[in-house]
Amino acid sequence: MSNKNSNNASAASLDPATPAEWAAFRQQAHGMLDDMLGYLQDIRERPVWQPIPDAVRNSFREPLPRAPGELSEAHDTFMDSILPYSIGNVHPGFMGWVHGGGSAVGMLAEMLAGGLNANLGGRDHIPIEVERQIVRWVRELFSFPETASGVFVTGSSTANLIGTLCARTRKLGTDVRTAGVAASTQRLTAYTSARAHSCVAQAMDLSGLGKDMLRMIPTDAQGRMDLNVLTAQLKVDSERGFTPFLIVGTAGTVDAGAIDDLTAIAQIARQHDAHFHVDGAFGALAMLSPVLAPRLKGLELADSVAFDFHKWMQVPYDAGFVIVRDGELHLDTFATQQKTYLKRDVRGMAAGSPWPCDFGPDLSRGFRALKTWFTLKVYGADKLGQVIEHSCALAQYLQERIVGTPELQLLSPVALNIVCFRYLPAGVSDEFADRLNQEIVIALQESGIVAPSSTTMGGHFAIRAALFNHRTTTQDIDALLNAALAFGKELAASTATDKEQA
Ligand SMILES: *Cc1c(COP(=O)(O)O)cnc(C)c1O
Repeated sequence: MSNKNSNNASAASLDPATPAEWAAFRQQAHGMLDDMLGYLQDIRERPVWQPIPDAVRNSFREPLPRAPGELSEAHDTFMDSILPYSIGNVHPGFMGWVHGGGSAVGMLAEMLAGGLNANLGGRDHIPIEVERQIVRWVRELFSFPETASGVFVTGSSTANLIGTLCARTRKLGTDVRTAGVAASTQRLTAYTSARAHSCVAQAMDLSGLGKDMLRMIPTDAQGRMDLNVLTAQLKVDSERGFTPFLIVGTAGTVDAGAIDDLTAIAQIARQHDAHFHVDGAFGALAMLSPVLAPRLKGLELADSVAFDFHKWMQVPYDAGFVIVRDGELHLDTFATQQKTYLKRDVRGMAAGSPWPCDFGPDLSRGFRALKTWFTLKVYGADKLGQVIEHSCALAQYLQERIVGTPELQLLSPVALNIVCFRYLPAGVSDEFADRLNQEIVIALQESGIVAPSSTTMGGHFAIRAALFNHRTTTQDIDALLNAALAFGKELAASTATDKEQA
């Protein structure tokens, strides 16, 4: 290789090779950015969701591409075959599951993080300080002590698993990590509400403790864990020789947004020397709103909290987080038992221990902190709190409209931002109403106007509107009800006719 060429790009490089190629790439890149900004700006003009045509689905079953292709062609495919067929959570009419709406600022931060390509497992670089900044802000928001540790994870499913593993270490000591749970003579039992997210049971499975050892405590009329039943169950289990080690409270159930009595659970957990973990997947960030924060009283007493920045705080997927009051316990659960983090360098690139990899199962980790940092810096905590309040105000508006409409029935009290209801014209049976409402939900989703989901409430099939998107307005709530009533009327007539003909 000549000296002249040795300054040039490597033949193996994936980057454009010449200034002219860079210029063309840059132009294409700007076009791609503009397309996504256009998507966000004009999102209302699109259907929320549309069924995927077979041809589009099948176009993703091609053989491994061996030869290079044009970036512009891949982007065209994205625009034609990917962008129109996403689930629609960016759209203001999306009211399906507990999904965040994302934001333009978060999108840009994702691009910057992609360019930087930082690996946040460890070592001494400023991206890790950005993650630690978020840990400090979370401590401040939740009134946790300075000794509390935190780490980004994919989502609350993993964050709840981390909380469960910390609770396991607390009761069984670090030996459980080498000897395994089978070596212990203690039979550990955990407690959560019957309305808790299924990942709480999964955490018992993955931690080797077993789902059977999770007691699902029934809920009261407000959807909160019944604390009399909890206390009675703890007594029975203790008498039978079990060791209660973990109580998981929920701050915002997925079905109806109910918040457990966290203060009372904290006290019960303390009496039994059990770890008090809160699944606050979406609800915990209601702390951003001074109006809603009092509803989360007791969160500050938790031993650990799992939550997601990607839900109510609108950070693009994924950005889950766990905070653990006792940072030492957290380290004891994940760092090497030889505490190698204490022996790492104090200077050079390998300084700055403990690292994020000492607080969770991941070694290679992306820069989730950056999009979270941008979201907080650009919008500010107050504005994000107002977004959360706005969702709750929309839920109240929806509730009022349901109560004021004779053909509609509210199926659970509106605690935060989730509303469950059904279409129930006079004189129809429960069985008929279940089938009818099932059809209404599908018709609404296929219409592309609004996209609610469904759940079961008090034994009834319920239409569930989960209001998380910052773009949603009363216009979308009206569209939901008008379309639900229109489809309900139409489907009730045709379903009744089907029945007569059958
Ligand atoms: C969304 C959610 C989860 C799961 O969180 P992921 O981020 O999807 O892993 C757990 N619990 C509750 C209450 C949730 O809303």
